[in-house]
Amino acid sequence: MAKSKKQGGLGFKDISTFNDALLAKLSWRILKNPSCLLARCLIGKYCKEEDFLSIQASKSSSYGWKEQLRPYGPAPKTLKDLKVSDLMLANSTDWDHKKIDTILPFHKQVILQIKPSICNAPDEMVWLKSASGVYTAKSGYKAQGETTITEEAPVPETNIDWLANVWKLKTSEKVKVFLWNSLHDALPVGKQSAIRNIPLTSRCPRCNEVESVAHVLFTCSYAKKVWTLAPLAWRFDPSPVITTRNGQETLRLIPSLHPTGVGPGTLSASICWDLWIFRNHLVFQKRDFTPEETLLKATREAREWTISQDQLPKPQSHANRIAQDPTLDPNRTCMYTDAAWNPESRCAGLAGPSSSHSAPDTSLTSPLMAETLALRSALNSALHRGINTLLIRSDSQNLINLVNAKGRHLEIASLLNDIYLISSLFADVKFKFIPRLDNSRADYVSKQALLMYQT
Ligand SMILES: [Zn+2]
Repeated sequence: MAKSKKQGGLGFKDISTFNDALLAKLSWRILKNPSCLLARCLIGKYCKEEDFLSIQASKSSSYGWKEQLRPYGPAPKTLKDLKVSDLMLANSTDWDHKKIDTILPFHKQVILQIKPSICNAPDEMVWLKSASGVYTAKSGYKAQGETTITEEAPVPETNIDWLANVWKLKTSEKVKVFLWNSLHDALPVGKQSAIRNIPLTSRCPRCNEVESVAHVLFTCSYAKKVWTLAPLAWRFDPSPVITTRNGQETLRLIPSLHPTGVGPGTLSASICWDLWIFRNHLVFQKRDFTPEETLLKATREAREWTISQDQLPKPQSHANRIAQDPTLDPNRTCMYTDAAWNPESRCAGLAGPSSSHSAPDTSLTSPLMAETLALRSALNSALHRGINTLLIRSDSQNLINLVNAKGRHLEIASLLNDIYLISSLFADVKFKFIPRLDNSRADYVSKQALLMYQT
């Protein structure tokens, strides 16, 4: 149950691992903020001879230091003091290829993909398991989980797509948990009672066959009748179903017929649930219902659930937010930026200030990186032209959100740093998102730049 939902568990927290993840946050704080009181106390006491990352806890260390804060990782001893700046040419913002060949030849390609800062941003320590590069207990817990799972369970039990078959289905939580149980064969059917030596019959109360989960939900004559009557877009034949998984994987894709008004998977999940509920009525209360009654209840529940979802307040749509943007100040210089990225050649054409374009950039890992480069070069060019108040518009929503939130992102960390640094040199600079259609000129220029390079 402590496995993630994606891996077939219920996503419960493993408390001991979660505790480690929370404690690692303290280690992170000591690393990132060595002048805070906690760091000064602990480093002053324990790290007199060796630094925080390599020190081993001694017998006399306090319990907290030994068991909880003891740091681990990351680099081999010879390289432990190596910094990004050590791999760059002196007084330059370019990589020193010779040095990289000597020290880290196997990582050369990855290193060259990192675009260094042009503003001499300082080196800093980052946590690789989160997109922002900042340690969070959540990412620490996840990282720990990855290592434990690979150590303890080399062979996955099943390769069910748990998200598609259970957790992303459009149905209520109780039905999802029920489906999760049925896919794990964890419903108290007759077959399970027999395995556990519970003195109950192992036979189906309706047809006297051995009662398994797949039998109750699919192959029992009663279930077959319900599935035949079900208003599904195409006929579902439960006869060849051997396991619950077979049935579920087929059913979740079948849409319901129009009058029911429910999406694919919703009605079939409800039917499974009610087949189980009515089986229990029969076993424990001796009340029998017709297949029509089962189907009626399932359809009603599926429809009620769907309607209740439509009534939930929806987040404000995108178009509205753009429409509410205040009109622009006519004295402000406006720049449109865009990038055209080719995933095969990893090249990008950048469009920046007015209608000019720069030479294509190579070894870029993603469109986000290309868009960020375009934005940085626009900002830089505006600064050199002596522009004081600036509006930059880009069709990369992701990037604009990041920049406006002064956010961090590992892949483009140094570029973002430059953007924040250069922005502070303007009297006022704003970044706005525009839909791609409104950015057609910059889009055209960037595509031309890429095309010129490729031909
Ligand atoms: Zn049966």
